[in-house]
Amino acid sequence: MNHKKSMTYKTIFIERYFKSFCSFFIFNSSFLIRIVYSSNPLYSEKSVVLGEIRCTRRNPLYYYYNMHTYLRSLLEQRQQSALYRTRLTHLSPQTPTLLIDGQPYLAFCSNDYLGLASHPRLKGASHLITGHTLAHHALEKELAAYTGRERALLFSTGYMANLGVVTALLGRHDAVFLDKLNHVSLVEAALLSRAQIHRYPHNDIQTLARLLAKSQAPHKLIITDGVFSMDGDIANLPDIVQLANTYQAWVMVDDAHGLGVLGETGRGTLEMYGLGADEVPVLMGTLGKAFGVFGAFVAGSELLIEALIQSARSYIYTTALPPALAEAVRESLVVAEEEAWRRQRLHELIAYFRAAAAKRQIPLMESFTPIQPIVLGESEKALAVNAALYERGIIVTAIRPPTVPQKTARLRITLSALHEENQIDRLIEALVDVIMNNE
Ligand code: PMP
Repeated sequence: MNHKKSMTYKTIFIERYFKSFCSFFIFNSSFLIRIVYSSNPLYSEKSVVLGEIRCTRRNPLYYYYNMHTYLRSLLEQRQQSALYRTRLTHLSPQTPTLLIDGQPYLAFCSNDYLGLASHPRLKGASHLITGHTLAHHALEKELAAYTGRERALLFSTGYMANLGVVTALLGRHDAVFLDKLNHVSLVEAALLSRAQIHRYPHNDIQTLARLLAKSQAPHKLIITDGVFSMDGDIANLPDIVQLANTYQAWVMVDDAHGLGVLGETGRGTLEMYGLGADEVPVLMGTLGKAFGVFGAFVAGSELLIEALIQSARSYIYTTALPPALAEAVRESLVVAEEEAWRRQRLHELIAYFRAAAAKRQIPLMESFTPIQPIVLGESEKALAVNAALYERGIIVTAIRPPTVPQKTARLRITLSALHEENQIDRLIEALVDVIMNNE
């Protein structure tokens, strides 16, 4: 880039003592600010460019920062806006009581809906390595049978499954229709596919209909979460399916939070609505939530799975799920089936939690799934409540933007079949104390 030929050039010393300086280039109607570090600003060839801010007619604003300067500034911004994430390290198995720094905490933040992550049969299963392909093959067959579809394909994670499916199915001339509250991996998948993206307000069927009616794209794919991961509510699948029929669109459901939990036999959101592979040809499920292990799968027709094997890049170009995990999932499917009480117990506890919360006027969302959020508004408030609960020995995740929309930071309470009523009572009392009494 030779900016010096046709532009006015100015050097502004922004920090004499630290010997940084800022160059300001005016280039027709565009300009560029370059932030440079040098031991002597007059000898620019010895300087290091820390970053650039560009404003041009076509590209309104670009930042090219030296990596470390950029990362530092991002972290500082996050800290200042109460969005900095910290990690808790726990040593105990995944149960409602977690050991952190030697102290027991009562946790309401796992996705271990059926309490299977700590089940002795699953833990044992990790030693049952029967061979690389056999374990995967057997699991894929069992997942196909579990979801009532011709075939299933294992992916290493749900994120990768979503990327793989959407990019395999869509190209730049196609269109994809996404609920505003869809999981981020679906949005990333849509972006990566280069299809035209249409996002409709949460569960807003009228807007979806309007967008579908206007679209001239050859392939239209409607994608929705079955259970929305941050709100806990359920997609209006019957109406979506009807629209898909009207406008010849395909439907994909990410049922990460519905499988194992919803429906008469735990087959998820589709079972709850009585929908099958004809109405929803693409079903994605994860294995690290209700099934307590790790990994993900896509279930569908023979053709769909073959197509994915050919062109889903996040399937082709990555290491497979370890066979030991595949064996653990196989065992988990059996246990989930044999021990249906886990699902029933979970639903009892959800009802118990909701009744107890309503009695104490704790504001809940319209969720009948294990995800029971309490919206608090500002990120600072969510962090303060999270910290106050932690002080009382209780962990509930504080969810903040950009995971949820601005000013809807929340506590995301998740319930497991292994919780007990007295533990929920303890949570409710703590919530009353921390949220209601300190407002
Ligand atoms: N979809 C949804 C709805 C999710 O909640 C998640 C995980 N939080 C994923 C996909 C990604 O799954 P995984 O963690 O297996 O990558």
